[in-house]
This record gives sequence, structure tokens and C-alpha cells, in this order.
Amino acid sequence: MLAQVRLNHPQLVRGWFTDLELADISGAVLLIQARNGAQKRYLDQHCLFALREAAQASTGRLVAVEVEAAEDASEAELKPAGFGEPLQLNPDYLFENFITGPSNRLAHAASVAVSDDLGRAYNPLFLHSSVGLGKTHLLQAICHTVKQRDPEAKILYLSCETFINHFIEAVEQGALNLFRYRYRHVECLVIDDVQFLAERERSQEEFFHTFNTLHQSQRQVILTADCPPVEIPSLEERLVSRFNSGLVAMMERPCLETRMSIVSKKAKLRCIEAPEDVIRLIASRIDTNIRDLEGALIKVDALSQTCSGPITLELAKQALGPGAHRPVKVPAILEVVAKRFNVKVSDLQGKKRTQIFTKPRHLSMYLARMLTSESYDQIGGYFGNRDHSTVLHASRSVTTEAARDPELRELLSELALEARNVSI
Ligand code: ADP
Ligand code: MG
Repeated sequence: MLAQVRLNHPQLVRGWFTDLELADISGAVLLIQARNGAQKRYLDQHCLFALREAAQASTGRLVAVEVEAAEDASEAELKPAGFGEPLQLNPDYLFENFITGPSNRLAHAASVAVSDDLGRAYNPLFLHSSVGLGKTHLLQAICHTVKQRDPEAKILYLSCETFINHFIEAVEQGALNLFRYRYRHVECLVIDDVQFLAERERSQEEFFHTFNTLHQSQRQVILTADCPPVEIPSLEERLVSRFNSGLVAMMERPCLETRMSIVSKKAKLRCIEAPEDVIRLIASRIDTNIRDLEGALIKVDALSQTCSGPITLELAKQALGPGAHRPVKVPAILEVVAKRFNVKVSDLQGKKRTQIFTKPRHLSMYLARMLTSESYDQIGGYFGNRDHSTVLHASRSVTTEAARDPELRELLSELALEARNVSI
């Protein structure tokens, strides 16, 4: 059955699948035993269809599949204080599966310290990075660790959007007291992606009070965002200073060596046998973020499944395409944007603020951020030494505009394609 699942749905496979056992097959139900509640939840939510398909193919019978957990379910069931839905954790997001390197060492060490000593080590802990660099992974690793030590621990782990939605619902239903009781009686409040508090005045206000109540009674607060607190647009001063009062740790893009260890770890977790040269190829082609890195590994594995052959360097090259991920250089972006807008490269780099220059300048900054691995500061360097926040704001505003404007999206993808083909 597992072979079938690997073949047809490689993206679902996790390293711990080899621990699964066949508990019972009687009548029309095939019962699979998972180690714990987290595994069971993952299988129930994502894999039942694939398991049933595999069970039917391998038994030749029309069986249904059910999953049970070996450990007492109540132990692994992670109920936050008073909320109906259990904490949803990805069973792979453990500290042991997190690879450390210079880019994330501080964030990792701080997360471990916090999980060892809630409310005392660093409070609040604020992690920030651009997308796909492991913030959610670390948050969940903290939750797993705390829960393993004390299954009764009241941890509330949620996305910022869920917090805002709960708040709006509570206001509409006149249930603010209940809302406050629930949020303020936890040992640890974990909120992912707090940049969504931007421009949400009332939610910010409520969050501020929640934060203070917890913080004053030494309850742990852990937050993540895609930028440091000061850069969250229109975030109130007092919240910024609260967030800064603990430890703020940035996570950067990992270097080649770290990326190689990560690919190798992900391959193991998914039971993919990838030789060293393939791992190096993937890691050197993709340096944007770790989610893309995993995507590339899955692509290579999928092609090897389709060809029913082993993963070789040749096959990996074929799967990844010729230079599809060839690194793009900022000067190449400047060149193609200048050409398209009929301005000079020096105008993009200069300070003139007329719209005929600012628009292509902003697009170039955005493309530089999306297509290269340079930091905001480094990108600023190509534009007459502008600072970090100028580049950040330019790329943000292009992101927002592109979300509304299909023509702009089209233009950006054309420019991206052209920039990839320029050799500088
Ligand atoms: P973010 O929340 O910062 O957008 P995620 O935590 O969702 O990023 O990470 C994206 C993917 O990359 C996840 O599958 C995660 O397991 C993986 N990942 C990120 N950093 C690491 C790391 N240091 N070691 C192993 N896997 C990582
Ligand atoms: Mg995340």
C-alpha cells in the first residue's frame, strides 16, 4: 500500500509512514494504526483518499480505510483553552527536523530556550523572515515540545487571521467577555504572521490588552511576521515597543551548505533516495526559499516515479529544466526594465521622482527582491544606495498593486523572463 501511495501521491508521504501498522482487516474496513494523534490527524485530513485507493489496488477489494492512534488519543489531542478546534500541528515540524545554519541559528536557539522555559527565557519571542524560511516550522516545534512534556499545557496556536476573525465574531455576537477569558487564560499564546494586524485598529487594540495581560503574568507570547515590528505598516507605537521588549530574531536565506542539509533531510522524511550530486544540484539551483527547495525535490522525485527509474543527476537536470533557476542578477533586471520603459539605467538608479522614473524603479526593486537572493539593503545599493525600507516599501506596493492588476502581473512575468535570459 505504501508503495502505491508513494507512486501516486509522493507529496503526501512522510518519513514516519514506515511506522504505520496494519491493525486489522476484517470485513470491508482496513484499520491502520498510527503512533499518535498528530499522525492520525495528518492521515485523516490529507491521506484517506490516497490510502483507500492504495488499499483497493493492493487487496483487489472494495475496502474502506480507517486510522487509529496507538497512544491514548486524549493525550495527543491538543485542545487550546476553551476553543473547539484542536491545535493543528504538522507532525514533521519538529526541532529534530529543523536544520540550523548561520542564517537561522539565533531563531532556533531562542525557540529551543523558550520551549524549555515558557515565560522566562525570552518574552515575547518575535521571529521574522521573508516567506518560506521556517518561521511556522519553529513555532510548531515549540508547540510539539511543550505538548510532549506536558500534554495538559494550555497553548493557543493560531494564525493572526484567526485571531482577527475570532475577535470580529465576538464583537458581532456580543461575546467579548468569553473571547477575553479564552485568550487571556493560556500559558502560551502563539500567533503566526502578525503583519496582518496592519491597519486593523480595533484588533490591534484588543491584541494589545491580551498581550499585556499575558505578559504581566509571565505567560509566554510568541509571534512571527514577514518583517521586524517597526516595519509592519501602521502598527501602533506601543505594540511595536511591546514586541521589541523581548527577543526579535531574524531568519535569513540559508547558504548553500545549509540548503544541502535541508534537501537531504527532506528527502529522508519523504523516503526519497537522492544521491549527493542531485542534492547539490537542487540546493545550488534554488536559493529563494525552502518551500521552493522542497518543491524542486518533489518535482525530481515525481519524474523518477513516472520513469520508474532511480534518481540520477541526469534525471534531476531534466526535471528542473535547463537553467530555469539560473540566478538572475540585479543589473540584468535594470537593463530589461530600462529598455521596456524607454528610460536610462541611470534614471532607475537616480533620485528623480517623476512618475516616468518612479514606476519602473519600483518594479525593478520588486523584481530584484523576487528574482535574486539579495537582501533589501543590498538591492538598495544598486539604486544609488537607497536604504532597506525604501526597497521594502517599493516591493510591498508593487505586490499590492499586482494583486489587483492582471496587466501588471503579465508585465512583471514578461520582465522576469527577459531578465532570466540576459547574461550579465
Ligand atoms: P514560513 O512560515 O517562514 O513561511 P515555513 O515554516 O512554512 O516558512 O517553512 C516552509 C518549509 O520549509 C516547511 O516545509 C519547513 O519544514 C521547511 N523549512 C524551513 N526552514 C527549515 C530548516 N531550517 N530545516 C528544515 N526545514 C525547513
Ligand atoms: Mg508561515
